[in-house]
Amino acid sequence: MHIRNICTGSKHKHNFRRMIKSLLVQSFGGKCCCCGYEKSLCSLTFHHLQPEEKEFTIGKIRLTEEDMEKLISEAKKCVMVCNNCHAEIESGITKVPEDCICFNEKKFRKSLKEILKDVL
Ligand SMILES: [Zn+2]
Repeated sequence: MHIRNICTGSKHKHNFRRMIKSLLVQSFGGKCCCCGYEKSLCSLTFHHLQPEEKEFTIGKIRLTEEDMEKLISEAKKCVMVCNNCHAEIESGITKVPEDCICFNEKKFRKSLKEILKDVL
């Protein structure tokens, strides 16, 4: 499996949040569900389909099983879009395609396990 590390170079190789983001991006199919953008991890973001329910914040997760479960259940309510499309969605110009929830939980869990082996 190919995990991109475009934003940072090797300096942050062991930053687990970045790894998690990278994993999430891969598990969401690697590109914006609206326009197919896939050039940079930094420009991909997660759009919560029920924003009133909860914020999806990778920045706050810790490396615990509980948080990983939370992350997975949040991810299932999200779609991945690029910053451009996200801004358009937020301002009502673009609609999220209805069939675009493509979070691959199985793939995520498997990769997570492999990565946790290295981190812990
Ligand atoms: Zn896009």
